[in-house]
Amino acid sequence: MTVWLGLALLLLLAGLTVWQAAALSRCRFWCPSCGRLFALPWYRLLFRRHVNDEWRLACPHCGQKGWCRVKREWKEG
Ligand SMILES: [Zn+2]
Repeated sequence: MTVWLGLALLLLLAGLTVWQAAALSRCRFWCPSCGRLFALPWYRLLFRRHVNDEWRLACPHCGQKGWCRVKREWKEG
């Protein structure tokens, strides 16, 4: 019983992680090094360190790793 409960919790956590990454892949990040905006596919946003709206990411423009702020006003279409 306990094993199945643990497994269910693990699946739920994995689902939440992917859902969060999918939501973030629709946002843009602001690079503090070069000041440009970039988007990343959801699978590159898995298991990244973050504090509130700042994510530790490598910028695809200048290659610098830094704390990138999320820009949520990004609209699709
Ligand atoms: Zn950059």
